[in-house]
Amino acid sequence: MSAATSTRPADATVGAVDTHCPYCALQCGMTLSPAGRASVRVRPRDPSAGGLCQKGWAAAALLGSPARLTTPLVRDGGTLRPASWDEAAGLVARRIKEITADRGPDAVAVFGGGGLTNEKAYLLGKFARVALGTSQVDYNGRFCMSSAAAAAHRAFGLDRGLPFPLTDLEGADAVLLAGANPAETMPPFLSHLRRAMDAGGLIVVDPRRTPTAERAALHLAPVPGTDLALALGIFHAAVADGRLDHGFVGDRTTGFDEAWRVAAAWWPERVERVTGVAAADQRRAAAILAEAASAYVLTARGTEQHSTGVDTVGAWINLALALGLPGRRGSGWGCLTGQGNGQGGREHGQKADQLPGYRRIDDPAARAHVAGVWGVEPSALPGPGRSAFELLDALGTPDGPSALLVFASNPVVSAPHSARVADRLAALDLLVVADIVLSETARAADVVLPITQWAEEDGTLTNLEGRVLLRRRALAPPPGVRTDLEVLHDLAVRLGQPPERFPTDPETVFTELRAASEGGPADYSGVTWDRLRAGERLHWPVPLQPKHGQPVHPGTPRLFLDRFAHPDGRARFAAVDHKGPAEPPDEEFPLYAITGRVLQHYQSGAQTRRVEELRAAVPEAYVEVHPDTAQRAGLRDGAAAAVVGRRGRVLATVRCVPSMRPDVVFLPFHFPGAQRANLVTNPALDPVSRMPEFKVCAVRLSPAGEREAQ
Ligand code: SF4
Repeated sequence: MSAATSTRPADATVGAVDTHCPYCALQCGMTLSPAGRASVRVRPRDPSAGGLCQKGWAAAALLGSPARLTTPLVRDGGTLRPASWDEAAGLVARRIKEITADRGPDAVAVFGGGGLTNEKAYLLGKFARVALGTSQVDYNGRFCMSSAAAAAHRAFGLDRGLPFPLTDLEGADAVLLAGANPAETMPPFLSHLRRAMDAGGLIVVDPRRTPTAERAALHLAPVPGTDLALALGIFHAAVADGRLDHGFVGDRTTGFDEAWRVAAAWWPERVERVTGVAAADQRRAAAILAEAASAYVLTARGTEQHSTGVDTVGAWINLALALGLPGRRGSGWGCLTGQGNGQGGREHGQKADQLPGYRRIDDPAARAHVAGVWGVEPSALPGPGRSAFELLDALGTPDGPSALLVFASNPVVSAPHSARVADRLAALDLLVVADIVLSETARAADVVLPITQWAEEDGTLTNLEGRVLLRRRALAPPPGVRTDLEVLHDLAVRLGQPPERFPTDPETVFTELRAASEGGPADYSGVTWDRLRAGERLHWPVPLQPKHGQPVHPGTPRLFLDRFAHPDGRARFAAVDHKGPAEPPDEEFPLYAITGRVLQHYQSGAQTRRVEELRAAVPEAYVEVHPDTAQRAGLRDGAAAAVVGRRGRVLATVRCVPSMRPDVVFLPFHFPGAQRANLVTNPALDPVSRMPEFKVCAVRLSPAGEREAQ
């Protein structure tokens, strides 16, 4: 594996810098070293913990990429032309004032991202509520972990992706991964599962035989959209086979009887008819988990991104509770967070219904606390806004926003029913995009603002285990770009805010975030950058008050050991039933389409498609399909195919994969234009989390016509 280097000089005053990868929530440690006079080199900080994946090794390549934006762009006569910061920011502020004066503050919306640092996510939410006064703010994390977060809140009273340190998994004899493919999405994670793999205790639930499933002792491949039924079946098997942990259920939970009343009707043979997973395999899964001294149930997007995502995760949590796993040292339930700051990004106020510290925006006490930190009246804070897809879907409509500011997101590629989203963006009076490259969404903008990236700025992120990490600056940014904090400061001041209310120094912003989060569920008040610089491993909550007998609070690596976060201290079973996908296959669209990631690319691909090594490895979209299914559609391996659904068609090259279910096609979602997997995905939303059903929709497969292939 070759390490990419950047072509710009490292900070003259800085030697080797210990920092973290710019991509996924594993946030692997890496050291950036000056290499010669004009570049940095990437090295993994902890090879024994799996090192880095190919994306991490290649991360520095984008720092010096010619694709990098270094000057603001303003649309003029239909094209984007270079402009000064003063012209671009002045134009944005003037148009926001005009639109707000004409239609009110909710006419201006903000869309953030799960890759933003904690400081940026915090200041973005404050900018929306205070500088714009809008309720219309949400972020792309709604498309990632929102179902797991809602299910965890319901079950435990608190959501933190992994409520235990990542390294606890190293002692596990059994791990069930539901809808996770870490062998491709975060390969170093597998180093934590070695013991479970060696012990024959890895169970993978995935309709595809992924590289992760290849490593499993037991691969359960349900019909897409039937994970909830499968979880009910394993739960049923565990109880019926006498594996219920009566002591734990009696002492630490409520709601078992109601949940069992539903699950009792889902005996494994019935579940087999719905899911295609053999009853014997369901019983074996229950036995592997129940008989292990240390066992975990972990969920990820494959089982969460459904219109029944919250209930599906609830069913997996029911299984874990029945076996007495959560809140026990060395066992548990957890969610594998996806985006780099998928955890912190959902805690500090860029979500439509939240204020910093994971507080609810409709809670009067929370509003009073945060308004006090911000120096405004609680009544001045807007209420809850629209969720991500509902916000995008409302753009440019009579009741919806007519201006949108986008930070760290590329919804033209990443949102479901993406052709509809592109139409809505085109209907806006003002679209502003802050990005490092000219993403597909930036191409559609009226104003594009070039910003710094990862290694050019300091900031904190919160990884998948709820640990706060310091990402360090190692390079001077290119002349002409600004940090997101500087962009928000400039716009806020132009909109009439006092300059000191929107600091540009990230440590100053973090100090304010600490105060805003104090006393909230995600309490960061005891975290300081000095403690992080000193190498402390701090998992939230970290209250300001010292823990008894200690000079400072040491953080909370393991949640729920004594009690769950509900007022009575007990976890909740959920009485959940199987419903099936919102759009099942039919005569016209007889196949299930599922979507996911590949090793070399990250999310919408806006970054990784611009790294030559990664682009060369996987340059375009493909569709994985069983050879017999391809043949029936008149296709062979390598042919150009159209995957056609109710909302559009995706062009992709056929990859015949004998292990695929004959009723399923798989599309990676990293590619733009006519290759966007999200041209066919279904925006049906979970009623609680408002998560779209990315993971299953109905399609047919056909040869791409001459016209479409061009
Ligand atoms: S696993 Fe994630 S954090 Fe680690 S190197 Fe790969 S992309 Fe980066």
